[in-house]
Amino acid sequence: MSRLWTSARSSHDSNADPYPLGPGSRVAVVGGGPAGCFFCYFLLEMASRIGLDLNVDVYEPKTYAQAGPAGCNMCGGVISESLVQYLGAEGIVLRSDVVQRGIDSYVLHMDVGSVRFPTPGQEKRIAAVHRGLGPRGLLTHRWASFDGYLLDLAESRGARVIHERVDSIDWVAGKPRVSTKSGQQEVYDLLAAAVGVNGAGIKLFEGLGVGYLPPKTTKTYICEFPLGEEVIEKHFGNSMHVFLLDVPRLEFAAIIPKGQHVTIVLLGDSIDKTLVTNFLDSPEVRRCFPANFVIPEEHCRCFPSINIKGSPRPYGDRLVFIGDCGENRLYKDGIGGGYRAAKAAARTAVFEGVSSDSFRRYYAPTCRAMAVDNAIGKVVFMVTGLFKKFTWARRGMMRMVAVEQYSGTAKRRMSDVLWDTFTGSASYRSVFQRTLHPLFLVLLVWNCLAALRHAGPVHREEEDSMKLGELGRIYRSGETIVRQGEVGDHMYVIQSGKVEVVRESDTGQVKLAELEEGDFFGEMALFDRDVRSATVRPLGEARVLTIDKKMFLRKIHEDPSLAFRVMEKMSRRIRELDEQVTGLFTPSA
Ligand SMILES: Cc1cc2nc3c(=O)[nH]c(=O)nc-3n(C[C@H](O)[C@H](O)[C@H](O)COP(=O)(O)OP(=O)(O)OC[C@H]3O[C@@H](n4cnc5c(N)ncnc54)[C@H](O)[C@@H]3O)c2cc1C
Repeated sequence: MSRLWTSARSSHDSNADPYPLGPGSRVAVVGGGPAGCFFCYFLLEMASRIGLDLNVDVYEPKTYAQAGPAGCNMCGGVISESLVQYLGAEGIVLRSDVVQRGIDSYVLHMDVGSVRFPTPGQEKRIAAVHRGLGPRGLLTHRWASFDGYLLDLAESRGARVIHERVDSIDWVAGKPRVSTKSGQQEVYDLLAAAVGVNGAGIKLFEGLGVGYLPPKTTKTYICEFPLGEEVIEKHFGNSMHVFLLDVPRLEFAAIIPKGQHVTIVLLGDSIDKTLVTNFLDSPEVRRCFPANFVIPEEHCRCFPSINIKGSPRPYGDRLVFIGDCGENRLYKDGIGGGYRAAKAAARTAVFEGVSSDSFRRYYAPTCRAMAVDNAIGKVVFMVTGLFKKFTWARRGMMRMVAVEQYSGTAKRRMSDVLWDTFTGSASYRSVFQRTLHPLFLVLLVWNCLAALRHAGPVHREEEDSMKLGELGRIYRSGETIVRQGEVGDHMYVIQSGKVEVVRESDTGQVKLAELEEGDFFGEMALFDRDVRSATVRPLGEARVLTIDKKMFLRKIHEDPSLAFRVMEKMSRRIRELDEQVTGLFTPSA
């Protein structure tokens, strides 16, 4: 195994990093939130691909086994469409006890009406989770913590979890030394800081002499109301409810339905109690709740900070900052941003080295790309803010979405722009570019003019029949997921259940394989434009997540390692095929 590692290194000898990780190197990860856990997972995963054994310790005081703030990392708990798809492609299936509700649509609320728009393919592609075990006062524990699940994932990949708070960090012979409250002291070859921006963790690095400047942050607001499954089902369904209201300093507000609670999130500039009260008392919010609903005196609430401008230099020799304490996406998909940064940092550490120069060359571009996109995001929010000020503009926007959703228009320009802005599924750059398209602008002006003539509110929130609180789509006996001979544009990942792969011909059909949870199929459609080579059907009931070709290929251009699992699977299938062919031509003894 270590020979593999040596040959991977020697190709870089000409400009070798002065601090490469080698067999037995020790890595400390301070903070076991999403960024820290993804870093552990990918570091160990990539190292194992080249036969490099590393010792990874992750320090995290939380066990994620308590309800309320003590076990929570304070967030809306929406796992974006793109992250769900990337995790699927990585072979990481989000367990159904972690996903409290699969979200299949968004409902946009404004003073001029509300409109619902579903996910592409009517599939549950977004997950609503609790970061900890659940809100304060939770009585039943039917669901597991998302962060706890990620920490288990890191541990199962080989990281050692140390449930202690890191108290101080200093340098010993040029290497970082980590000390905990209990007096434990360890020296490492690399330290990955993933302490977020809430709490005192970030202060550990300010006086360390590496020129680290913490990110700029602002206050946000989260609260959770216990409504019970029935009320949530009736009033919120599987939709995330987003609000574009003309309330000063409020950029974005959402109600996210979960198992027994709804989570309310307010993002903007220094959210305070007055703003929260104004929002909760607004007619647009009140009409989402049952008529007799009274805000419970005792409910879980907090004002956490959010990163709104990343650290300018999130790395040093043997030191890298990932997730919120480094660079992250503005207001959207922070967990997805943590995943991206963690993977880029892990790739750099394993394949390039852990010097400041390597992080600058191979990790900083990922952070810079997020920072540039966030700058465009600020323009997007500024334009949306302007739009929110004028009733005719709000009506025009609402009318354009309603027309697209309910008249069967082929190209859903406004719906897609809003979908990507709310879900964080696409970059702000892509959203902004689409709003500059001449046809988008013409249609928007046309709808604004049309809305001036018809001033009544729009209310379109029809629910579809999908009622499952899990991800993907259910297929049952008798249905076909993929049909041989048809052209395909998707790959599929089985979330639960089994499917059979059959080859059909004039003389009958041959069963090629049975696949189960975590397996892919249809992956050839990602790489060629030929027709499907086999038919795939569920065996009983199977839950399947669709991976979009366009989204997947776009991501592979940024992060080629995403294709590794698919290639691994294809290579295994070729081997199996080889064995079968050899078996056919080998005379039996
Ligand atoms: C109001 C709000 C709503 C949001 N909604 C969403 C959303 O719906 N979807 C989404 O994707 N993102 C959302 N985000 C963003 C998301 O929460 C963050 O981007 C994400 O949590 C960052 O992950 P992280 O691992 O960098 O930091 P964190 O999640 O903050 O984790 C940091 C970890 O470090 C640990 N730690 C701190 N100090 C120490 C120490 N000294 N020793 C050891 N461990 C330590 C902490 O215990 C914690 O577990 C939201 C943020 C806010 C504020």
